[in-house]
Amino acid sequence: MPDFMKAAVLEEYQKPLVIREVPYPKPGRGEVTIRILASGLCASDLHLQDGRIPSSHVPYIPGHEMVGEIYELGEGVDRPLGQRVLGFIDITCNTCRLCTSGRANLCLSLKRLGFELDGSHAQFCRLPAQNAVPICPEVPVEKAAVIPDAVACMYHAIREKGGVRAGDRVLILGVGGLGIQGIQILKYFGAEVYVTSRQDQKLEIARSFGADLCINTGRQDLTEEIRRFTGGEMCDVVLDNIGIASTIEQSLQVLRPAGRVVVIGYADQEFTAVYQHIMLKEKEIVGCRASNLHELKEVIRLVERGVIDPYIYRTYPFEAINQALDDLRNGKSLGRTVLVF
Ligand SMILES: [Zn+2]
Ligand SMILES: [Zn+2]
Repeated sequence: MPDFMKAAVLEEYQKPLVIREVPYPKPGRGEVTIRILASGLCASDLHLQDGRIPSSHVPYIPGHEMVGEIYELGEGVDRPLGQRVLGFIDITCNTCRLCTSGRANLCLSLKRLGFELDGSHAQFCRLPAQNAVPICPEVPVEKAAVIPDAVACMYHAIREKGGVRAGDRVLILGVGGLGIQGIQILKYFGAEVYVTSRQDQKLEIARSFGADLCINTGRQDLTEEIRRFTGGEMCDVVLDNIGIASTIEQSLQVLRPAGRVVVIGYADQEFTAVYQHIMLKEKEIVGCRASNLHELKEVIRLVERGVIDPYIYRTYPFEAINQALDDLRNGKSLGRTVLVF
């Protein structure tokens, strides 16, 4: 085993990552070390780089969307070397009240790869063996890499938090890296899908994945368009991938009575809601964080069967990580981007 590996290290907040040699992460008891094949980028990488995620600390290695091969086994682990696996981000205690009631995504002692722990923007990553989830090697690595975050999170949002059923009218606010994957899941569940963006190119991509209504909120009135398209019946579920005050307020406007807004976007704002819209109309606002391990396993099967084809906007070589982060920050990315080793 090597003594060192190459990694992109966040040494200081609000600075570019530094590619340098760091010690090879030797697996401990119950762990495996995987050799990274591809590592996805996410808006959280920008929040982390900016120092907006209080639980993170520097220096460390970000990266939380990973696919790799099992490279070394820790004590007590029996797994085939070379097995193609995804890294499940959440490291959970498996004993707290939330873990034991099927909500491990809210584990009371949750730690995350690429947030509180070293992640996958590196040649190798160490993780608990149960977090290394097998995937068929025929799935291209760049598509596989985004499954644990972008695809699994939308699956959790749609099925578990949104409770979407066939025939539901579902609006995705802010169709980007997550939303495009969401369209495919919603179509699979038999929903009618509406999406918004201020970029026509993103709406074009959404349309090619089957979105029924594409609204450019830069020049169209959201509430008016939804009212017209639904004959005034409005949306059953809104998936708010933006998650700022104005989008939650808009979501409540376009919901039918007893409809549900699922808040997925990450923001540190506050919002106001009209009390009577919630009470008299029984509208619900629910949070959504990541996904559970069993949901990741279900989503992997859907990808392997070709039901979901994860959409990747472009790939970069690992060494171009700072370019890739800048492009993401400057809105040059129209979907998920992935570093390939
Ligand atoms: Zn993420
Ligand atoms: Zn727990």
